[in-house]
Formats: sequence, structure tokens, C-alpha cells
Amino acid sequence: MAQIVIMGAGVAGHAAATILGDAIGAEHKIIVVAPNSHWNYIPSNVWVGTGTMKKEEVLFPLRPIYEQVNVDFRQAKAISIHPEGKEESDTPFITVEYVDPDRQGETEEIPYDYLINATGPKLNFAKTPGLGDENGIGEHTVSICSADHATHAHQRLDEMLERARSTKQKVLIGTSDGTCTCQGAAFEYILNVEQKARKMGVRDNVEIKWISNEPYIGDFGMDGLHLGVAGYAISSKLFGESLFAERGIHWITDAHVSKVEEGRLEYELIDGTMHEESFDFAMLIPQFTGVGLKAYDKAGEEITDELFMPNGFMKVDADYTPKSYEEWKAGDWPVTYQNPSYKNIFAAGIAFAPPHPISEPRKSPNGTPITPAPPRTGMPSATIAEAVAHSIISLLRDGESAKLTTASMAEMGALCVASAAVGWKAGQGVSFTVYPIVKDYDKYPGTGRDTLRTFGSIGLYGHWLKTALHYMFIYKAKVKPGWKIIPG
Ligand SMILES: Cc1cc2nc3c(=O)[nH]c(=O)nc-3n(C[C@H](O)[C@H](O)[C@H](O)COP(=O)(O)OP(=O)(O)OC[C@H]3O[C@@H](n4cnc5c(N)ncnc54)[C@H](O)[C@@H]3O)c2cc1C
Repeated sequence: MAQIVIMGAGVAGHAAATILGDAIGAEHKIIVVAPNSHWNYIPSNVWVGTGTMKKEEVLFPLRPIYEQVNVDFRQAKAISIHPEGKEESDTPFITVEYVDPDRQGETEEIPYDYLINATGPKLNFAKTPGLGDENGIGEHTVSICSADHATHAHQRLDEMLERARSTKQKVLIGTSDGTCTCQGAAFEYILNVEQKARKMGVRDNVEIKWISNEPYIGDFGMDGLHLGVAGYAISSKLFGESLFAERGIHWITDAHVSKVEEGRLEYELIDGTMHEESFDFAMLIPQFTGVGLKAYDKAGEEITDELFMPNGFMKVDADYTPKSYEEWKAGDWPVTYQNPSYKNIFAAGIAFAPPHPISEPRKSPNGTPITPAPPRTGMPSATIAEAVAHSIISLLRDGESAKLTTASMAEMGALCVASAAVGWKAGQGVSFTVYPIVKDYDKYPGTGRDTLRTFGSIGLYGHWLKTALHYMFIYKAKVKPGWKIIPG
């Protein structure tokens, strides 16, 4: 019997756990280690942040689900990886610290035959002074990255909108650090906040501004995209700017927020100039890094650098050779997500280290990087986790001759549905497909993507689709009847 340990129970970890538990959980031992007792459908945190949904609608407890699919759940935080075991034993293991109320603070060594790192991002609030404490509940700004953050954001938003009934208010929404990703979530939030201010009849008293590290609205860390519409290729810049202009939202792009204080923030632009903005309500996405796992060899010497890149994300089968922007290739991107040094370790979802950004890297004259990091949204995260789970099943069955399942982001499409407004009749969603996620100019000269498969539009159906996806993905994650036929 083999032991497979999955660190993380988010989009990627949960997808891998349910597939492995269902397929081989009766025969082998599958252990999930994660600090969260509940699964969070993160995309709908945007709606929790405006009060459209309650926190309870985006969360469900993990343990009963794992009991159904033969997965042993440990509510704990992984601390370190020991891929060579220790002096007394060659068996690789991880160390964990329990956060489970019944075992709080206890530590344990958990051995593994295969390890999946699906620990997602550390929300690095500390990178931007004043942005928030490590729990993300900032004194000055709010976040929607977790269900708790979003609940707090909703409370602060409603307080601000109440004040707007009598006094002018100013809202800033976007990204903080120059290397942030996840612009899409902030994009949805600003449009939903704008709609809420209109619905409450206070829009005239609320100035709403976008601030982001993107070179232009609609870059999204993927060097923008051209949507095939009626035989034309329309840029996401045009699309995004139109959406903002129609709604009276002003924007600042090319910005690195360097400091946040009560009611004001300082930011640097790509030209090196420093500026400031005041605000009454601000939601800024923090920088994402790896979660800070350490690694040790058999003798107990630290080998974290061998398993992880300096940003804390795990090295996989990507080409990490430093290259200039012009030399980057779609083929640099990983396909199996296997660690090159330890073949029984894989990384899935945000936890793997991308070989380079997709958007062109830029620095201000002061040396500040202002380049959106590549997006790793839910769909690719789940697809990668599924591929890794199937690779492990093959390895257990066929040993060294096993054929690993591949899932390159340079050969994978993604469906994105961004909420622009809510309501069964007044709702709007921007729905688009992008293929491939990582541009490939060799295959698709011109825009780097297949414009027949990269298309989108805005409409009421987008809101209905977004709502349907909410229920569909929660249904799948709860492993209800037929869950396996719902695509990840
Ligand atoms: C507000 C918001 C809205 C979004 N909207 C969309 C959307 O509409 N569509 C879309 O496709 N994507 C969206 N995304 C992105 C999507 O949420 C991510 O792509 C996805 O969650 C990544 O999955 P993951 O498993 O890599 O990370 P996560 O889902 O973050 O899971 C990481 C897991 O690792 C656990 N963990 C952390 N540290 C440790 C540790 N030391 N040991 C063990 N476990 C650990 C965490 O507790 C968690 O269980 C959104 C993101 C945000 C923040």
C-alpha cells in the first residue's frame, strides 16, 4: 500500500484528493494536510464582498466529504519536506503542525511515497507596508481573497456607502505590489461595487478609481488578449477601458503601491515618479508568494533552494534558465509538474513556479518591478491537479514505465466569467475563453493565440453562467452523484 500526501485543500488539492480517493483510496492511503477545515469556492468571494452572498454560501466542511472518498484529512499546516528521509530511515516525510482544535500545536512527521504540493499562495500583505496583518484584516484596506476577508470587506463597504448618503466618498480598488496577479478578481469587485453604489442611489457621491500594476486595463498578467468578435480581433484593453468609461470609473495603471496609511496610499509609476491617492474605502489584492515551506536533506541540511524558486513556488519540469523576453517560448512551461530532483514530488495549482511572466517584464528607473505575475486561475489549477493525480495513479500501476499525464498552460484553454453586475434581470457577466493561456507565437503568429478559440462578450447570460458555475463547482466539490462528469 502506498501513501500519497497532498498538502493543501483548495481548488487544486481538493481536485487531486477527490480523484485519488475515489480511484485508489480503498487500496492506498490518501492523506490531505491543510489548515482550513472548510473548502472555499473562492470566485464567489467577490459576491460575499458586496453582500450579494453570505459567507456560508461559499464554504462547506471538508471532513465529511473526505470520509466519503476514503481520504484521511489532517487539519494541519505543512512546515517542511524531507525528500530523502533522515539518518535512521530513507522514507521521505513532511512535518506538520496541527491547527485542529483537538490537536492544536501538536507536530507530526507524515511519511509519503508520493507528495503533491497544492498549497496555493501566501497572501503576502506584509510586502506592502500598511496593507494588513498576516490575517489580511487590514486597518486601512480590505481584501476579498478569503471568505473571512470578504465578509469584513462587505461590512466596511456598507459603512462607506451609508456615509455616501451625506458626504462624498472615494473608492480605490485594484492591486498593491508591482508584481501582483489576480487582477481579474479586483476587476469583478470594482464593477460590482459600482453597481451597488448605483442601486443604493449614492453613485453621484462616490468617486471610483482603479489602480493596478498592469500596463493597461485588461492585461490580466497574460499580456492581454485579443478576442475574436465578428471576424475581428478586439483587444482586452479596448474592452476593459470601455467597461470602465461607461461606468464612470477612472483608472491608474503601471502602478506599484509602496505604502498604505489611514485614508491614503503612495504609489510609484513605471516612469519612476511618486504619487499619492486618498481613499475612504480600498480593496487591494496582496502580492502572492509561495507559502514558505522548507526542505531538508537526509543529514538535516537545508535544501529549500533545490525544491523551490526564491519566490517560494516549487520547481517543476519547466525551463527556468534565465532568458530575455524575446527568447521565451511556450515550451518553457511545465507539462507534468514533477519536481526535477525528486520524481515522487509534484506541484499543482498556484504552488508551482512559472518559468517567467507572460506579460513583458518592466522595471521603473528606480529598479521597482512593475509586471503582473501570470494568472493561475481555478480552471488550470484544477486541470493540472487532475493530471498530477492521474500521473500518480499510472506510476503506482506501471512503475517506471508509467506515462505521465500532461497539462501545459501553453496547450490549455481557460473559460473565464467575470461578474460585472448582479441580478436575474440586471446582471451582467463578461465571459471569455482564451486559448492557449500562455501565448505561443510559433503556432499562432500575430496575437499569440487562436482567435477562433479566444472570444468573448458581455451580457446577462454571463451573469447566469457565473451563477450556474457557482452551484455546479460546489456540487462537484461535494462529490455529489455524477460529480465526475462535471469538468474541472
Ligand atoms: C477573490 C478571488 C476571486 C477569484 N475568482 C476566480 C474566478 O472567477 N475564476 C477562476 O478561475 N479563478 C478565480 N480565482 C483564482 C482561484 O481562486 C485560484 O486559481 C485557485 O484558488 C488556485 O487553487 P490552489 O489550489 O492553487 O490554491 P488555493 O485554492 O488557494 O488553495 C491552497 C490550499 O493550500 C492550503 N495551505 C496553505 N498553506 C499550507 C501549508 N503550509 N500546508 C498545507 N496546506 C496549506 C490552503 O489552506 C488551501 O487549502 C480567484 C481568486 C480570488 C482571490
